[in-house]
Amino acid sequence: MPPRKGQNVKIPQKSILIREGMVITTESVHKQDVLFLGERIAAVGDLKGTTADEQIDASGRLVLPGAVDTHVHFNDVFMNTVSVHDYETGTRAAAYGGVTSIIDFSNQEHGRPLMETLDIKKEEAKGKTFIDWGVHPVITDARPDVLAEISSVVSAGSPTIKCYMTYRSEGLMMEEKELLSIQTELAKSGGMLMVHAEDNQIIEKNVPRLIAQGKTQAYYHAVSRPPEAENAAIQSCLRLAEKTGCRLFIVHMATDKGMGHVARARKKGVDIQAETCTHYLLFTEDILKREDGLKWVCSPPLRSRSIQNKLWGGLRDGRIAMVSSDDAAYSWEAKLYGAERFDKCPNGIPGVETRLTALYSAGVASGKLSLSRWIDVCATTPARLFGLFPQKGHLAPGADADVVLFNPNTEWRMDVDTLHMAADWSAYEGKTIGKVEKVFSRGELIIDGEECLAEKGRGRYLHRKLA
Ligand SMILES: [Zn+2]
Repeated sequence: MPPRKGQNVKIPQKSILIREGMVITTESVHKQDVLFLGERIAAVGDLKGTTADEQIDASGRLVLPGAVDTHVHFNDVFMNTVSVHDYETGTRAAAYGGVTSIIDFSNQEHGRPLMETLDIKKEEAKGKTFIDWGVHPVITDARPDVLAEISSVVSAGSPTIKCYMTYRSEGLMMEEKELLSIQTELAKSGGMLMVHAEDNQIIEKNVPRLIAQGKTQAYYHAVSRPPEAENAAIQSCLRLAEKTGCRLFIVHMATDKGMGHVARARKKGVDIQAETCTHYLLFTEDILKREDGLKWVCSPPLRSRSIQNKLWGGLRDGRIAMVSSDDAAYSWEAKLYGAERFDKCPNGIPGVETRLTALYSAGVASGKLSLSRWIDVCATTPARLFGLFPQKGHLAPGADADVVLFNPNTEWRMDVDTLHMAADWSAYEGKTIGKVEKVFSRGELIIDGEECLAEKGRGRYLHRKLA
């Protein structure tokens, strides 16, 4: 009997069986089968004898939870330019890189309400996203009425708010007393403060001194923002957190001393975690001396080899909880604003597509990270710390069927032509081991080899709540 008008028709859910792949979770690495039913994972295990609408042979492949990138800057207006990644190009490139959830920053405009940061991103995302997405509001103007908004922003699904301790001339910096009031409000509403920790005074003293000495090349960007600037800022926001009890997250940590401060504070009971980014693990400050050194101008800057080795150590033992991309993609034309002097170069590296693969190649394949830790730092911990777990970042029954099939036995050349990011240049170039082959988002195959099969606008807003 055909359904009557208005009657609920239940569309049968499509089932997909991923067979015989090496399933990687934070706990185990096992050859297993994975069954999707509609948008969710229905079963993981030995599913011989199970039938499904579609079967995919994953033998020789790693089967991973979709990566979660909690640090990207799309449509970001910054240093006289705007990032070339919007919700279309950015989420598409992310999908190619095995990322199935991103969280983007939304800078509050001075004089405007904080809630508007969410509305603006919802408008920017409309009809454009290929994967699921969320927002971290950035407070740039801590007026009393903005502080009073914090609890409603937290309950609107954006419980993680960011502040900058530098970029005064960009209008982004928060003073210590402002950070104190923001932390106090966030602690009350159960939110988390993400901090870009670099001491502005140190940087503002160094930059004009170096420029006056004629030290204007990209490398001096790193000299102007030494590890001490980062360490001092980490310490000062830690002191505030000891008073307020606010949950803290240090973004893009790039010093070993910073790791020490964070670890000691955690022992004292401060609720604090830190991430580093792909580029601190792959590149060192020497690369800034190249003729095209402006490509690697980012803040905090790239560090020495010895600090980099310690960051890998911290990532292995958990002093660093996770890795994000800090994707901030500016055109080469915009990067060249820094050709005459480093401080005019927009700070940022496009990396939303490269993180999972680059960390496999430089981390797992070279013996620096285990398979389980790789997935932990790229998917599970980001989902856990940012209010997406166990829906995301997790390969288990009940979770969203966000799954990546990864080929560990292939070599290719990563560069601007083989990647899908929108910038007309790439910081990531060279031989790479391992490749993302298929990406499922909520049970839908969105990337199949070189093809993007997803329809624009299918991504959903991630309404997050911290555990
Ligand atoms: Zn950033």
